[in-house]
Amino acid sequence: MRDFSYLRADSVEAARNAAALPGAMLLAGGTTLIDLAKCGVAEPATVIDISHIEGLNAIDVTADRAVIGALAKMSHVADNAEVKSHFPAVSEALWQAASAQLRNMATIGGNLMQRTRCPYFRDPQNFPACNKREPGSGCSAIGGVTRGHAVLGTSEACIATYPGDLAIALVAFDAEVDLGERKLKVEDFFLAPGATAEREHDIRPGELITAIEIPGSAAARRSTYLKVRDRQSYEFAAASAAVGLELEGDGRTIRDIR
Ligand SMILES: Cc1cc2nc3c(=O)[nH]c(=O)nc-3n(C[C@H](O)[C@H](O)[C@H](O)COP(=O)(O)OP(=O)(O)OC[C@H]3O[C@@H](n4cnc5c(N)ncnc54)[C@H](O)[C@@H]3O)c2cc1C
Ligand code: SF4
Repeated sequence: MRDFSYLRADSVEAARNAAALPGAMLLAGGTTLIDLAKCGVAEPATVIDISHIEGLNAIDVTADRAVIGALAKMSHVADNAEVKSHFPAVSEALWQAASAQLRNMATIGGNLMQRTRCPYFRDPQNFPACNKREPGSGCSAIGGVTRGHAVLGTSEACIATYPGDLAIALVAFDAEVDLGERKLKVEDFFLAPGATAEREHDIRPGELITAIEIPGSAAARRSTYLKVRDRQSYEFAAASAAVGLELEGDGRTIRDIR
């Protein structure tokens, strides 16, 4: 792991200013960043600890909408009674992610920002070709072992999947990512590899996620999350779906399905 400077930000503004520095990376729960630094994928010049910023862990949920702070822990959101009641698929997606220890450390912002689990991406010593790590270097997965890779949304540059569970439910229910100066639909925040596999998220230097917002709806209230994986716990999805349904008054006719 390369040496880096450590900077603790106590406000969103301080974090934004520091995040604009060359080679700066934000640290929230650390469950992804530390892994990526250890395997040589992330080489931050400065690590900006945002975990102490007050107010960013708020969870504010009504039937009309949920506003979840970027520093809210996955386990707190999953266990929130209002989230369970108005957005069950969101709670279920979080419960089925990672392990209890990780969910207690990991944050909602960090969860959205996690990187692909492509094993070639995470092994720079043995697999130098990876367009996501090093644009133009090629793709070690194409022609390699691809059991965990994508079948849809691939490109000639990259066939990796996005591994997170929460984002699937957020896309289904039209959630937005709040970046402070601008808000983006979650589905627009995530970028398909195309010719620029190195860009996985539409986030700019100096920006950070402050919250996610999910509009309430009848479909979100009657929703569930299905995750198919090699084992029932502590495993990424082979495939997953968030599904929500709104019925007419007769209880049989579908008005809206996600
Ligand atoms: C063994 C293992 C199994 C896992 N299984 C699953 C799983 O089944 N499903 C699943 O969904 N996830 C899974 N994960 C991923 C886990 O959910 C993420 O590691 C976690 O959510 C990241 O959150 P964090 O707060 O620890 O992020 P950090 O590690 O602190 O940060 C991760 C990245 O996000 C950036 N970042 C953090 N906060 C912000 C912010 N507010 N704005 C902008 N950028 C930010 C950081 O700079 C960094 O690049 C697993 C992880 C591990 C290690
Ligand atoms: S699939 Fe994408 S992340 Fe994996 S080796 Fe190829 S370019 Fe890199």
